[in-house]
Amino acid sequence: MLRLFRRDTPGGRSGSHLEVSHGGEAYRIALKRVSGAQRFTLRVRSATRDVVLTMPMRGSMAAAKEFAERHAAWIGARLRRLPQPVPFAHASEIPYRGSMHRIVHIPGQRLPVVVGTTVIETGDVMPALFVGGEEPHLSRRLHDFLKREARRELETAVHRYAAQIGKSVKRITVRDTTSRWGSCSMGQVLNFSWRLIMAPAFVLDYLAAHEVAHLMHLNHSPRFWALTRKLSDDTDRAEAWLKANGADLHRYGQAEDGEDAPEGA
Ligand SMILES: [Zn+2]
Repeated sequence: MLRLFRRDTPGGRSGSHLEVSHGGEAYRIALKRVSGAQRFTLRVRSATRDVVLTMPMRGSMAAAKEFAERHAAWIGARLRRLPQPVPFAHASEIPYRGSMHRIVHIPGQRLPVVVGTTVIETGDVMPALFVGGEEPHLSRRLHDFLKREARRELETAVHRYAAQIGKSVKRITVRDTTSRWGSCSMGQVLNFSWRLIMAPAFVLDYLAAHEVAHLMHLNHSPRFWALTRKLSDDTDRAEAWLKANGADLHRYGQAEDGEDAPEGA
């Protein structure tokens, strides 16, 4: 079964999609027309579990459908090999500031999210995030909390580094970016992924230094890196951490739609 539909994203953008079914599973495939593309190419992005079909500008929809259907088994195999997503739910374990925390739902009570410790099944004590309120709202409340914490930590670090180089920042945005952890656009606006709050503190801190250094150099020139290293002693350690563990942070919670990073360095 194959059908074609369009979907409007919250940002008002829309794109074409295909849906293919294989072995009882339905896969949603985003279509991307690329000038210069000579053939159809399928890609499964691990961060977002998105399936993207790149096709020539003038490629026919029928050919795209046929191609996707022929490779449905491959898509399924690729998706199954990706690390399993971890929802924000009671008893899930998620990283927060670099260490694993158990999510503990406290039914009924609409308390703010509290960071503490809990005793788990093995009798061991582990860090925990206590989330009150009704079960259906747990995921959203935890997302809101993590985003707020990310913003607070990033604002503190950004202003500290900006002051060191005598620059000012107009605005800081915290979103669910998949292509990069931070970016700096013209006009002193710094953008970050809220998922950095799950990484060790030195990683978030380094990203703040990196984007602040872009206020001086809007490129990745040797002078840019010299300034970044001057601001953050953790530059190499943090880059290595992100390279090894960054993609894993996208497994947790829910990906947001249509909130990719804007253009910038
Ligand atoms: Zn950069």
